[in-house]
Amino acid sequence: MVNVLVDLILTGNSINVFYFTQNYLGILLEVNLLVYSYNIDLTSLNLSYSWWCMMWNHYAKGDINMHVKKIKSRGYLFTQNLEGWDLNMYLIKGERCHYIIDTGLGASNAKEILSLLEGDLKEIIVINTHYHWDHIWGNGVFKNHKIIAHSTCRDLISRKWSEMLEKSRDYKMGDCEMVLPNIVFEKELYFVEEQIRLIYTPGHTIDSISILDERDKVLIASDNIGDTIDEIIPNLYCDKGYYRETINLYEKLDFDLCISGHNEVLDRNVLSLIQSVLPND
Ligand SMILES: [Zn+2]
Repeated sequence: MVNVLVDLILTGNSINVFYFTQNYLGILLEVNLLVYSYNIDLTSLNLSYSWWCMMWNHYAKGDINMHVKKIKSRGYLFTQNLEGWDLNMYLIKGERCHYIIDTGLGASNAKEILSLLEGDLKEIIVINTHYHWDHIWGNGVFKNHKIIAHSTCRDLISRKWSEMLEKSRDYKMGDCEMVLPNIVFEKELYFVEEQIRLIYTPGHTIDSISILDERDKVLIASDNIGDTIDEIIPNLYCDKGYYRETINLYEKLDFDLCISGHNEVLDRNVLSLIQSVLPND
């Protein structure tokens, strides 16, 4: 119990220690366990009071399965553990805006990302990497925000929403409301001052995009990277030629870490691995 408070004070964490103590004195031991269950690096996360409340609620429900990991200077990787697979969402805390990349399985996932931004008044911009349900079901939480995707993504979400919801509804986490991307692009969109580049990279699907954080040299390639090292080439729902072109394009980008939709954090050697197993035909 004492370690948590000492940690919080020593690490200069912005959590309001007074409220924390006042409200949770009786349960600090459990919170201590919670911290370790979540594998949280307290020194690098900027946790708000309400974030702790939400985490406590999850803990009380026995629903401890979301992990948060700080990536370099401004990235946060959210990983939802599910039975037999993981789902990644990513947050870039920019100087002018915050960028939430994919919204997960519903309002619960989206709100967990939002709670990390509690009290931060910067604009939130949402990015959908592609139309698949596990990446967009939390869009409803962001209906008053900018949601950016490839133009095809908007069409595909609108056409396939009901079918995807029917087929995979058991994975829903909280409310799922169809909210379509309201800003679309074709080839590339560049937030110049933030050094965040959105690039059209078809392969896994025809609408797939990738995000390059040029400042941190992190590529968020979403499902263009397979779910495991053994299956590093993902399911390809469009012509294999597109995928090969996308991997060649990745080779030209300056990054050293690669975040995907379901795999662990990888480095740029993943490209050589893909090239070595990608058939030539
Ligand atoms: Zn997918």
